Amino acid sequence: YDAKGGGKGLRVYESDLDSKNPRRLTLVAELRGALARDEISVHVQPQARLDSGAVVGAEALVRWHHPELGVVPPDEFIPVAERSGLIGPLTTRVLDASLAAVAAWRAAGHPLGISVNLSTRSLHDADLVEEVSRLLRRHDVPASALTLEVTESSVMADPARATALLHQLRDLGVRLSVDDFGTGYSSLSYLKRLPVQEVKIDRSFVTSLQAGGEDAAIVRAIIDLGGHLGLEVVAEGVEDAAVWELLSTMGCDVVQGWHLGRAMPVAEFAGWLATRGTATRPTLHAVS
Ligand code: C2E
Ligand code: MG
Ligand code: MG
Ligand code: MG
Repeated sequence: YDAKGGGKGLRVYESDLDSKNPRRLTLVAELRGALARDEISVHVQPQARLDSGAVVGAEALVRWHHPELGVVPPDEFIPVAERSGLIGPLTTRVLDASLAAVAAWRAAGHPLGISVNLSTRSLHDADLVEEVSRLLRRHDVPASALTLEVTESSVMADPARATALLHQLRDLGVRLSVDDFGTGYSSLSYLKRLPVQEVKIDRSFVTSLQAGGEDAAIVRAIIDLGGHLGLEVVAEGVEDAAVWELLSTMGCDVVQGWHLGRAMPVAEFAGWLATRGTATRPTLHAVS
């Protein structure tokens, strides 16, 4: 979790895997009202190209600010939303806020993109395609500025159905990304069959990346595979300059992580972009 996602209730939530847990039941009831009470918002975390250092977009990360529980992390309430049938309205809310943000940035002269996470249930939602199309029109955002992230495991839950839906989304012109790549159990051949344009290397391989280590072998293999398949490769969880530079020498395309910037409220993003400048830009010199 990032600093904003952490909270005093974290230890309680981490052991809260039992659906009979009263805390979980409370969350279901609370989540129902959260959308109406406007407690759901979107934070954005910047992404930059490794070659130029240019910020090219952001990932939208949902936040739930509960009046008493504080910030409830998405890893905790997304599964609750999935099981209680609230994921549809939640996804719509996140897409709406994300496309509003990217429309505002573009109007201000920043040709950025936005990445939005889709859950397993959303990949089974026949209304999703029409919903995405409606929201793109509503905010007058080109489909190519929207990337939808899916995980290998959410695709594998029902490969035929998910693949059909991804093709429909792709037909709209939306970009598709495989999130947390390397942690699932899918066959590599799915990467070839799915209509995706991007892979995101899971941060568990990235955060403590060291030259010559096992993570480096995995990261290098994913970057090479992505390159051969014509996919853009994004590394998430880049926390320091050493990892940034190592990824640069490995030929990774795009980075995301605390070293560039943490997830922040949408209202802060334009200011962050303006003050970032060359002085705060992570160094890009190659390591020998
Ligand atoms: P994810 O899509 O893999 O998102 C990346 C997570 O890594 C985010 O956690 C982000 O804050 C965190 N992170 C980013 N940079 C760093 C770093 O340098 N170091 C470390 N240690 N962590 C970093 P977050 O915001 O708590 O989100 C967790 C997961 O919740 C996401 O993983 C995604 O699977 C899910 N999620 C978030 N927003 C949404 C949403 O709107 N819809 C759906 N369906 N799922 C979402
Ligand atoms: Mg993601
Ligand atoms: Mg990820
Ligand atoms: Mg993740």
